[in-house]
Amino acid sequence: MENLKKYINEIKDFPKEGIIFKDINPIYKDPKRWNELMLPLQKLISISKPDYIAGIESRGFISASALAFKLELGFIPIRKPNKLPGRVIGINYKLEYGEDRLEIQQNSFEKESKIIVIDDLLATGGTASAAGKLITKAGGNLIGYAFLVELTKLNGRNNLDCKLLVESLIKY
Ligand code: AMP
Repeated sequence: MENLKKYINEIKDFPKEGIIFKDINPIYKDPKRWNELMLPLQKLISISKPDYIAGIESRGFISASALAFKLELGFIPIRKPNKLPGRVIGINYKLEYGEDRLEIQQNSFEKESKIIVIDDLLATGGTASAAGKLITKAGGNLIGYAFLVELTKLNGRNNLDCKLLVESLIKY
């Protein structure tokens, strides 16, 4: 996994000052490298046997939907407010400055379905934690979270339910 770091670009001050943005796009562009990155997640998901994979908008959709398709599992989009049609269930969560909100469609899945949440990157954990709570609020059985990249210094995993599976592939 460490060898893949050289294909992750670091962009300073994007999307705002002070953030060093990890750009994973060069990995997605190369099927061999993308496959190498995803293989451990495929194995993990095959073992934990969720009913659905939930991806967090928008970069989380890339890996979550690819894995769902490959493993013949359902994909559930977790989106920013006012993007999903029909009735939705939402959750507000705190950002460093201000608030944000995530939503899923009502009746996205059968009650007690086993669900794993996937995003591209774990930073402070605020987004993933909110996504997990949203799954639980909607009646799902949250079994864990998986990320392609984790910024370990930010201790984001401490904000996630430690009883659940928390997996990340490339750690900084
Ligand atoms: P957080 O809620 O702080 O864990 O932030 C995670 C979300 O923000 C993920 O959806 C990431 O796509 C995005 N994100 C946060 N920090 C970075 C970063 N340094 N590089 C790329 N994406 C980031």
